[in-house]
Formats: sequence, C-alpha cells, structure tokens
Amino acid sequence: MIQHLLKEVLDIFYPRCCPVCQKILKDQNRMICPDCEKNLQPIRHPRCYCCGKPLESGEYCRDCSSHRHHFEQGRGIFVYDDKMRRSITRYKYYGCREYGDFYARAMYLYGKNELAHWKPDLIVPVPIHKTKLRMRGFNQAAYLAERLSQYTGIPAETELVEKVRKTKSQKKLNAIQRRKNLEAAFRVKGHLRGRTVLVVDDVYTTGSTVDAMAVCLKKNGAGNVYFLTVCTGRR
Ligand SMILES: [Zn+2]
Ligand SMILES: [Zn+2]
Repeated sequence: MIQHLLKEVLDIFYPRCCPVCQKILKDQNRMICPDCEKNLQPIRHPRCYCCGKPLESGEYCRDCSSHRHHFEQGRGIFVYDDKMRRSITRYKYYGCREYGDFYARAMYLYGKNELAHWKPDLIVPVPIHKTKLRMRGFNQAAYLAERLSQYTGIPAETELVEKVRKTKSQKKLNAIQRRKNLEAAFRVKGHLRGRTVLVVDDVYTTGSTVDAMAVCLKKNGAGNVYFLTVCTGRR
C-alpha cells in the first residue's frame, strides 16, 4: 500500500518518459510510448555471426573477418543511431535511470534465443573507474546487469571485475590505440572455475572493451565469454 502510494507520488514529480522520444508517458505503466515501440526495431538478420553487427550480406562483418576476438559471440539489440545515442546519453548522464529498465527488458526479450543457446552462469557488467562512478553516481552497465539478472534468474556479479586504471576517452582513438589503452585496465577478483560469462554494457563499437574483459576473465579461469549490449555501432 505504502509502496503503491509512493509510486503514485513519484509519478507526479518524476514522471516516466519514453526512452526514445523523451515525451512523458501517458500510461505510466509503459516503458516506451506506443509510437516508438512500433518504430524501434531490433537488429535483424543478416547480422555478423560473431559480433551481431547489421550486415548487407554475408556472415561476418569486416572487423570480425579480419581479426579474431577474445569473446565467443555477442550482439547489441538496437543500432546506435542518433535516436539511441540521445537515449543512452540521457540514461548515463541526465538521471533517466528508468531507461535502463526498458533497455534490460529489450535485451531480455530480443536476446532470449542467444541466452538460451549461450547458457551463461553469471552476468558481469563492464566496470567503470571509481572516480567516474563518484561523478556519475551509478554504473550504467551494472544497472543493466542487475535488471537483466532479475528477468533471467542468472546471477549478476557487479563487483567481480574492477576497473583499476583510468582510461582516456576511447572516442578519439583508433582500434590499436584502444586496445593498448585498455591493457591492464581491468582486474578480476576471484577465480571463475570454467564458468560461462555474459558481459553486459550499453554500447558495443569496436569490441575492444569486451575483448579486454574477455582476456582478463579467461586469464582468471572463465570458460566461454559472450556479450549483450543495448546498442551496437554500425561501423
Ligand atoms: Zn516515444
Ligand atoms: Zn562482427
């Protein structure tokens, strides 16, 4: 009863917005407005067999056919276009945490087949450095991992991997620089004993972050490593 009342009060002061068009949701029980739900499509086939990027044709994207990744397979649910870029920015930097509920639900619904096939033993978010965590107030990937864990029943271990070194912003770096930048940036606490890991993050671009995570996880005994992200860059 109290929880219900609290929710009503919160809805008045902090109404939920549509994560795509940012308009206040007329039906506060919805996660996305009906128009955006109709228009927002997950990445369909053909997509890269390894990283899930949308393809015109063929089996692998240019990146995955030219070099081997350290993870086994993965996919992002939506294309990282202007619409989704705005959405993710609001989620990460402007306190729209409820968008994470929508993202996790989409990851669960559209990634169901992959999850059934991969059978991960645990969900591990890409960590952020504690300085960044203090500034941002939350780790956007950890929030997704926890929500996805609630949907799937697969445990999320948000403290397992630590970001031990601050990395420069990855945006202006090329692939080789990114890899170097990420070297030794992560530390895994504990031994994985052959367990299958699902790495969760908001956006997949070149794969250098997931690769660096996979290298660290496997060094610490992980078996197969897969990833699931909300979005994936086209390139
Ligand atoms: Zn909308
Ligand atoms: Zn690929």
